[in-house]
Amino acid sequence: MTVPEMYGSLVFNDRVMREKLPKDIYKALRKTIDTNSHLELDVANAVAIAMKEWAVEHGATHFTHWFQPMTGFTAEKHDSFINPVGNGEVIMEFSGKELVKGEPDASSFPSGGLRATFEARGYTAWDPTSPAFIKDGTLYIPTAFCSYSGEALDKKTPLLRSMEALNKEAVKVLGLLGNTGVKSVATTVGPEQEYFLVDKEDFKKRMDLIFTGRTLLGAKPPKGQEMEDHYFGALKPRVSAYMHDLDEELWKLGIPAKTKHNEVAPAQHELAPVFDTTNVAVDHNQLTMDVMRKVADKHGFVCLLHEKPFAGINGSGKHNNWSMTTDTGVNLLDPGKTPAENTQFLVFLMAVISAVDNYADLMRLSVASAGNDHRLGANEAPPAIISVFLGDELTEVLKSIENDTFFGNKEKVTMDIGASVLPHFFKDTTDRNRTSPFAFTGNKFEFRSLGSSLSVSGPNVVLNTAVAEELSKIYEELKDVAADQMTDKIHSLLKDRIAEHKKVIFNGNGYTDEWVAEAEKRGLYNYKSTPDVLPVFVADKNKKLFTKHHIFTESEIYSRYEILLENYTKTIHIEAKTMVDMVNKQFLPALMEYMDQIATSVSKKKAVCDSLSVNAEVRLLTKLSGQYDSISELVSELAGEIETAEGLTEALVAAKYYQATILAKMEELRKVADEAEELLPEDVLPYPDYAKILFYV
Ligand code: ADP
Ligand code: MG
Repeated sequence: MTVPEMYGSLVFNDRVMREKLPKDIYKALRKTIDTNSHLELDVANAVAIAMKEWAVEHGATHFTHWFQPMTGFTAEKHDSFINPVGNGEVIMEFSGKELVKGEPDASSFPSGGLRATFEARGYTAWDPTSPAFIKDGTLYIPTAFCSYSGEALDKKTPLLRSMEALNKEAVKVLGLLGNTGVKSVATTVGPEQEYFLVDKEDFKKRMDLIFTGRTLLGAKPPKGQEMEDHYFGALKPRVSAYMHDLDEELWKLGIPAKTKHNEVAPAQHELAPVFDTTNVAVDHNQLTMDVMRKVADKHGFVCLLHEKPFAGINGSGKHNNWSMTTDTGVNLLDPGKTPAENTQFLVFLMAVISAVDNYADLMRLSVASAGNDHRLGANEAPPAIISVFLGDELTEVLKSIENDTFFGNKEKVTMDIGASVLPHFFKDTTDRNRTSPFAFTGNKFEFRSLGSSLSVSGPNVVLNTAVAEELSKIYEELKDVAADQMTDKIHSLLKDRIAEHKKVIFNGNGYTDEWVAEAEKRGLYNYKSTPDVLPVFVADKNKKLFTKHHIFTESEIYSRYEILLENYTKTIHIEAKTMVDMVNKQFLPALMEYMDQIATSVSKKKAVCDSLSVNAEVRLLTKLSGQYDSISELVSELAGEIETAEGLTEALVAAKYYQATILAKMEELRKVADEAEELLPEDVLPYPDYAKILFYV
């Protein structure tokens, strides 16, 4: 099969629909997809029949509604197409009702208290804007998941709502700017995904990787990531075979993957797809993470998507490239080539900058997790402070608008935004500022604070909604302005916005202490950890934002807040307990065994000749013995603190205790254990060390 033949071969895409559906049905479905209009049951029935036929032709025997509960993973419930018709015979059946609606038992998914007030039943509803596909002999139907009374229980529903909010506000603003031909605006996303590959046999021996996805102990290897090329060579053939297979599997699913081999840390890689409409991109990223794990297993690897699998080695993130596109095919963050396009660009650009400034706390919240706390602000990922990188050129343009000087001209002259033509901002990879959390890269913004395992839904819900809000404010300010006043009014609106929000623009090095101090002076948020930032979800200004645009109801906000707190606490709880086990059952016994070996060799030496020196052995034994004492003391303290934490009933108090006390103790314990590990011979540790995992594949 050639690549073009393979591409999308397992997707019920537009080409297949056109081929398989009667013309009127195709048109009706297309209308639903393009305009979000209601789908009639007779259309659904006809689509279901065509979908089933196509799926069966491609070897599918089952179908499943595929959804994204608030755990951040995906869920599915398989049913077969088989329907007995008597005489021991069956037919393959699939109805419009089965396509459109499912009823999984919602009680096995977190609801953050929503379920207490409602029935345990949940509904999944077909999202026709994301194409169905076949995986492992099953027809997958992307769906939204909600409770019996319609409260969102998933990550797709708020995303679709936020896209709709932005669509509505953007079209209104475009109308005022004279761009009345635009019927809809969609946001687009291209998520770049980082990951580690480790050998399956190594993985299986590490309790910490199995239970927590990251290593909780482990001395640094003699060589770190600075030498990656050398060691990378040995690993390459297996990895490229993996990547080849991964590409093919993704292509079949219509995911336009472009793999790259260029990550910083050893055993770390990146995959970037071509961007797509946001909800399709979110579905595809979830699917990509699934397929990465599955293909890894086939190749004797385990794919680690944790944000920080190895201390001292760069962790993994995800870059969320984001923009807005009209149904007429115009990227609204492209500066354009004519004055009218420039004005439009500047208005939308300022909407984004204001959104980030006003809702930086929510953006920080949207990337908060126990795993990502190890990265943000740790000089390998953007700082926890959210700021915008614009580059010098564009920053100059905004400055001249603010100060009424022509771009590059010192004299004060009112700058006529309608008449000036902005320089075209070509994507320039050389002056990319890797330390910025939110960077303008020529015709899109790149939100770089996401962790590798995160569903990209949340950050995009926040972006879409915050920008929708700023656009709605712009619309309110402009809607009653007379046509001949419009240019002036837009000009002063931009000036005001720039003056108010330029504090969030920062083109310098985000890793420095100076920036932290400067950001504080500017009054920017700096939430260092997940428990610090989670309460902003329920802050009045943010509740107002989400409820105003119908993204979340107040109870949906509280349910999500609960779940985030619970996830955080559970994650650290499992890590702490795993660490206690690993230290007690593996590390301390290994240490003891080594001390035994040394003691034995001392007595043997003495037996041979009493005057032989055993100074070195005694010194080592003394050191190890001291470390053994400290480790066993620290591990029992940690166990005690876990017990204390288990007794904490208030969710935020518990989360803070895990962050401030338990994580700190884990670090203390790890430090001593890692020092001891450096003294241990390779064969006494019952699990592979960093060097083995990272370099010897
Ligand atoms: P890099 O950041 O590694 O230099 P690129 O800038 O080429 O790579 O692209 C990064 C990602 O941005 C890709 O997934 C690409 O598809 C995506 N992208 C490009 N244009 C847009 C857009 N208008 N909206 C959203 N994502 C986009
Ligand atoms: Mg990038």
